[in-house]
Amino acid sequence: MRRLSTLLLILFSFTYAGLVAQENYKDVKQKYEYTVENKHEVLSINYDDIRFKKRPKNIILFIGDGMGTAQLFSAITVNEGLNIEQMPYVGFLKTQSADNYVTDSGAGGTAISTGTRTYNGAVGVDMNGNKLTTILEYSERNGKATGLVSTSAITHATPASFIAHQPNRNLYEAIAADFMNTEIDVFIGGGADFFTKRVDGRNLVLELNQKGYHVGYNIDDVEGVKEGKLAVLTAVAHNPGYKKRGEMLSKSTTKAIEVLNNADSKGFFLMVEGSQIDWGGHQNDAAYVTGEVLDMDKAVGEALKFAMEDRRTLVIVTADHETGGMTIEDGNPAEGFVKAGFTTGDHSAVMVPVFAFGPGAEEFIGVYDNTDIFEKMYQLFKFKEEDKD
Ligand code: MG
Ligand code: ZN
Repeated sequence: MRRLSTLLLILFSFTYAGLVAQENYKDVKQKYEYTVENKHEVLSINYDDIRFKKRPKNIILFIGDGMGTAQLFSAITVNEGLNIEQMPYVGFLKTQSADNYVTDSGAGGTAISTGTRTYNGAVGVDMNGNKLTTILEYSERNGKATGLVSTSAITHATPASFIAHQPNRNLYEAIAADFMNTEIDVFIGGGADFFTKRVDGRNLVLELNQKGYHVGYNIDDVEGVKEGKLAVLTAVAHNPGYKKRGEMLSKSTTKAIEVLNNADSKGFFLMVEGSQIDWGGHQNDAAYVTGEVLDMDKAVGEALKFAMEDRRTLVIVTADHETGGMTIEDGNPAEGFVKAGFTTGDHSAVMVPVFAFGPGAEEFIGVYDNTDIFEKMYQLFKFKEEDKD
């Protein structure tokens, strides 16, 4: 009994330390003005000239964590346009969770990944803690290759809600272990320590090697990997912000698409997260928010280029919720300048936009619940209704 309580105390201390370490991004710093340093080139697409196939074989889902319309319009302003604007079918998502008018990223991610509303803090489980099957798991079950890319730790709430089933989003080591219960083909993001420096003594990188994964620690180191199973743990915990991260997100997106497209499978499902838009929102930092949206937009550009060529790939860009209650008070597109205002250091309850491009994109217009994203993807993939758990 004493050994058990000691163990529990150790477990609690680790969990608590992890929790504190992970919440630093919520410190409010308040920087309202931003002038962009480098504008990026935006694609110019004649959408109606592309002859898409009828149904998507592949789906690439981008989640801009905390990305509302102000976050987007800030980036549109300073860059004089975004790739995301080339996606012609647009809708709005309601983001409320099962137990809170203002969702967190665990419940928001789980609604999108499973079609079920749950409580704030949950990842991949329902109100009673029961496991929910995610679109990534259904994709795997139906013979598709699967992937996750994130600029946070790969075990953080958003990617976790596509692959893990835990009652609390802060159980990073348990979430990392859940990766081992799937056959995910590619995952790229931070969080190496949750795979190797674990309370239970397991070394999940060794286990990944045994399962046939190529494991890397930097996106540039895996340039030569074109196929097979790939895990890239790009930071010990979270990746740094956009200024220090380089082209990690667009390179990772391109690499994930390449490897998934080369897999011997019936298409693929890939979720890519621009995680730190949310952290900029928590800090009320217009530069952090806008720089992160611009960074994700470059990755979206890579996905759109692939989708134009492939013609069987649906690209969706959306968010789990808005962060910061952000608005735009002033701007100058020619000078790349924007001035933002914020109403909270937390998430807000407003609707978030959805953009779609490719076969099935027209299904995404309108105003609907975040859970409908799952349903639309499930139906567009032609998975059978009777196969649902
Ligand atoms: Mg997130
Ligand atoms: Zn947040």
